[in-house]
Amino acid sequence: MQTLSCRVAGKPSGTGPLLEVRSPYSGELVGTVTTVGRAEAEAAVAAATAFTATPSKYQRAEILEKTRIALEARRDEFARIITSEAGLALREARYEVGRTVDVLRFAAMEALRDDGQIFSCDVSAQGKPRKIFTTREPLRCAVAITPFNHPLNQVAHKLGPAIAAGTPIILKPSEKTPLVALRFAELLHESGLPGPMLSVLLGPTHEVAEFLVRHPDVEVVAFTGSVPVGKRIAATAGYKKLVLELGGNDPLIILEDADLELAVTLAAEGSYRNSGQRCTAVKRILVHEAIAPEFTRRLVAKTAEYLCDDPMLESTRVGTVIDEASAIHLETVVKEAAAAGARVLTGGQRRGALLQPTVIDQVPRDCRMVVCESFGPLAPIITIRDLDDALTLANSTAYGLSSGVVTNNMQAALKAIRTLRCGTVNINEVPGFRIESSPFGGVKDSGLGIKEGVIEAMKGYSYVKTFSLPWA
Ligand code: NAP
Repeated sequence: MQTLSCRVAGKPSGTGPLLEVRSPYSGELVGTVTTVGRAEAEAAVAAATAFTATPSKYQRAEILEKTRIALEARRDEFARIITSEAGLALREARYEVGRTVDVLRFAAMEALRDDGQIFSCDVSAQGKPRKIFTTREPLRCAVAITPFNHPLNQVAHKLGPAIAAGTPIILKPSEKTPLVALRFAELLHESGLPGPMLSVLLGPTHEVAEFLVRHPDVEVVAFTGSVPVGKRIAATAGYKKLVLELGGNDPLIILEDADLELAVTLAAEGSYRNSGQRCTAVKRILVHEAIAPEFTRRLVAKTAEYLCDDPMLESTRVGTVIDEASAIHLETVVKEAAAAGARVLTGGQRRGALLQPTVIDQVPRDCRMVVCESFGPLAPIITIRDLDDALTLANSTAYGLSSGVVTNNMQAALKAIRTLRCGTVNINEVPGFRIESSPFGGVKDSGLGIKEGVIEAMKGYSYVKTFSLPWA
């Protein structure tokens, strides 16, 4: 049982109502957080904007490295916090801590990197013997708002790059999963991060999240979450930078020549890992009609390996979704698809917030399960006639986050890369494959095309200053 408080400029704070955090699996109370209101949100912005003692690049790298070492030593403790509040299988939570360790390592490396460019000015008829230089300057105050599905790694993807860039940041984590975020903030402060460089706030949406989004002294809002909330933020933020990482409906396209074993493994991993709650989870499996029967038979057999049970058990591969209401919603979209002609081949049973990994084939192309984002362990199969049919279908939803294509045909792979309107195309990999420093992010309703990943995110948390000197 964790008893925690919000942190304003590094100090425990909050006198508001207690936020109770319960295990999605057992309903047991696993933690409480004292919440804050508008006054503390204003104080956090004031502390951030008044802060001028920005640590040097070396000091920022040291803080991030110390945090990484401390997190590695407490890997299992952090994983158990994630599992207790998010219901994710312990093995997934350990994987997430590993990814966070990578974020910290890469952010520390990037903090040290020289960030400027030099331009000679005698390169044109209009030029002069001068030099123009650029340097990256921190912003005065950033706000990050994060979702529940990767409760630690999403937080690290905001805080790590902001710290590396030297920008004070205020985090508003999901109120479904605040515990690991607050423990992570403690670790950063214990590792030497100056108090005003990080506040973590939870409280009523209009007093905290919306207040921060609108605040004129906040220079960037970095949001990861659903499309409706992202669009609301875009409509209300006003004159500031916006980084929006929103929902997805990623296809895995399996062509006739695909290595079938690989295709089955990628479909299962992509659909079921993290309880299917990844923005880049496989949400539609588009299989060539010639291989669909054999692929489907093998996927049903493979699905039996994904044991769905108590997330704390080492044997469990699929834990709960975030809450019972979400599991009921998923059950409903499966029933809708079945009523429209789809066949549920395995899974579909629900126990509380546990939803068995579910394979559904003959899914109509227009049913809710595949048009909207289904955030859970569902594997909906749709047959395709050929590559063109797959690409048209893949591009037909409002989303454009990522995609995967299983083929050994180079021409087909290149055509898919050219044609898919989304942020990432992975050939012979799941849509979610990436490393923590590579550019990541979507287009259309999935985002504005501004990428995250440690290197790109640092650009969001800084601005380029250009200066010139009269010496060649
Ligand atoms: P959500 O409901 O949009 O919530 C995300 C965050 O926004 C939470 O911290 C939430 O706070 C906050 N929020 C809610 N209303 C707000 C408002 N009016 N103004 C400002 N902030 C507000 O998303 P979720 O259900 O937690 O997460 C799942 C979604 O995130 C999925 O759609 C998934 O695809 C997407 N996602 C995208 C990416 C990506 O990189 N593209 C990565 C991961 C997840 P409360 O907790 O207090 O409601």
